[in-house]
Amino acid sequence: MTRIASIEPILARVGIRNQLLVKVITESGIVGWGESGLSAREESVAATIRHFSDFLIGQDSRKISRIWQEIYRSQYFEGGRVLTAAMSAIDIALYDILGKRLEVPVYQLLGGRQRDVIPTFACCTGKSIDDLVDNVRTLVKEGWTSIRINSSGFETVEVFDPRASLTIAAEELTRIRKEFGPGLCLGIDLHHRLSVAETASFCNMMPAGTVDYIEEPIRDESPEAYASLRSLTNIPFAIGEEFSSKWQAVPYLERGLTQYMRIDICNIGGFTEAMKVAGWSETHYVDVMPHNPLGPICTAATVHFSAAVPNFSWLETRQSSVEQLGFHDPDIFPKQVQMDGPVYIVPDGPGLGVEVNEDIIRQQAPAHVEPPHLRRPDGSVTNW
Ligand SMILES: [Mg+2]
Repeated sequence: MTRIASIEPILARVGIRNQLLVKVITESGIVGWGESGLSAREESVAATIRHFSDFLIGQDSRKISRIWQEIYRSQYFEGGRVLTAAMSAIDIALYDILGKRLEVPVYQLLGGRQRDVIPTFACCTGKSIDDLVDNVRTLVKEGWTSIRINSSGFETVEVFDPRASLTIAAEELTRIRKEFGPGLCLGIDLHHRLSVAETASFCNMMPAGTVDYIEEPIRDESPEAYASLRSLTNIPFAIGEEFSSKWQAVPYLERGLTQYMRIDICNIGGFTEAMKVAGWSETHYVDVMPHNPLGPICTAATVHFSAAVPNFSWLETRQSSVEQLGFHDPDIFPKQVQMDGPVYIVPDGPGLGVEVNEDIIRQQAPAHVEPPHLRRPDGSVTNW
């Protein structure tokens, strides 16, 4: 009765984004939920989940780590973001099932909790510098001591001019630091839009101590490029939300290229892979700073993970008062992890602690979403 009876991807519009959930049911009727993180390419991941279900149905749902190995190594061509996003959702659902079967919260399956609550950093942007600073003020008043901005200079959907945008970003950070002082942990997400040289110039535009970390200034395919950039600035880096396996994380840890590990549990391979990367990060005194840009299943999984790892800084939240994204709709998810000001409360019920209203979510038709295809002023391609 512990065997997997069905695996179903459910793609739905929730708030301003699609969410790709997976529902796994065992022969005894226990339901587990997972979420996949490859935003904007959800259809590909859903097809992959259906493919995996061909050989997973009938398997013992408790053999979670073995199932991870079998999926990863079953197609001869191992790895890749689509495959590991699908694996992540299934792995999370199997942990949800095991927690429900044993009547323990998932964090107990990961070694128990290391902390009482889960501190978060809030994400903050604005239509202008003044608007951004106002939003930071709101968050500080509400208790946040760690804030990551997305510069208003990056909020374009057509043309991205690096020099013009970086000038605005440097001005924003300098103003925020001046107004809120050194007590605030202040980061910026650069959305891997820059070159090595552009990033180095950006770091030199601000007085020392202005920014505590920069997140993903350049793309992650080349650790060598990051090593070059690492030698050009002393500002810590937060890298890793794009990693889809422990093997991608390893050079960044072993070569000292990232100072925070931005694990995305819905992309890297679920709890099974996230715990390994967290452990490898611990050996290098690098704290995890998990990516959490999706819905309540992702948030709950990340909260359980964050509760269980010793080397932890802040968990990303998209639920502060300055963002209205609708990802955590309480009608669709009547039971979900709750916040208390700037911290998540660790749920103590069985499994992940999330309930899904299937009558509603199955009515939420997914939108066809294509992220902005940005170009530089000369017409060439750049990342969103
Ligand atoms: Mg990011």
